Amino acid sequence: LQLDGVPMFGEDDRFKGMLFLLQNITAIRRLENMRSEFVANVSHELKTPVAAVKGFAETLLGGGVKDEETARSFLQIIYDESERLNRLISDILDLSKIESRRSPMDYAPVHLASFCGSIIDTMATVAEKKRIALHADIPEELFIEADEDKLRQILLNLLSNAVSYTQDGGKVELKVRELQDAEGTEKVVIKVTDTGIGIPKKDQPRIFERFYRVDKARSRSSGGTGLGLSIVKHLVELHHGDISVDSELGIGTTFTVELPMLQE
Ligand code: ADP
Repeated sequence: LQLDGVPMFGEDDRFKGMLFLLQNITAIRRLENMRSEFVANVSHELKTPVAAVKGFAETLLGGGVKDEETARSFLQIIYDESERLNRLISDILDLSKIESRRSPMDYAPVHLASFCGSIIDTMATVAEKKRIALHADIPEELFIEADEDKLRQILLNLLSNAVSYTQDGGKVELKVRELQDAEGTEKVVIKVTDTGIGIPKKDQPRIFERFYRVDKARSRSSGGTGLGLSIVKHLVELHHGDISVDSELGIGTTFTVELPMLQE
């Protein structure tokens, strides 16, 4: 608690009394702590790829690497780590834009069947590389009022996670349904299901936190930044929706997004 006092004077400049303000500053403190923790995390995450780029470039410049194959593999690492830096920076910028509300909602009716169709097309190449069967099950006549770019980012992030965390030859499905909740509100339910590695129960409540990963090495090798799901959660909340996860280790994972069909 913080106590501030100011003297109060009347029109004739005579002292009239004191005004005291008793403020609960825990919330403010907590926000400050969260912010400095985020900055520390960001710096750490950025330093790792930069150190790799610098180290391998130094080795190459030092002239110690004589055979071309090794040199190429070092260049490939430098390239991959630069790409990673790029993704990190763009995710961090997205997150900060969303959190500081500099990203106004641009609602318009979206025809879900054609919209999801184009998203599946985008994902097809990545899925094919891993021989993952990508299915879509979308009712033909369903529309939702949404911010199209943000909705695309939600689905692309969930689908690319599903593909990343599923072994070769697995299955990924995007399923959309209409639903009326207990209060009679029309909703759209979007499910992204995979037959992948699953998420341990103890980690499930934390995966929407920034930079939280179940398996750091695995996330890194799949090119993850650890920010995807926290961006997704923010974008779902901007649409006044909810997201939840249901997962069984070694069996697979389903992310469920519920969005109101119309925005008030
Ligand atoms: P990342 O960039 O590491 O994928 P995300 O924020 O997208 O970061 O996801 C956080 C963590 O949640 C991942 O590191 C991974 O451990 C886990 N995860 C996300 N989606 C899935 C999934 N479909 N199957 C298994 N684990 C997942």
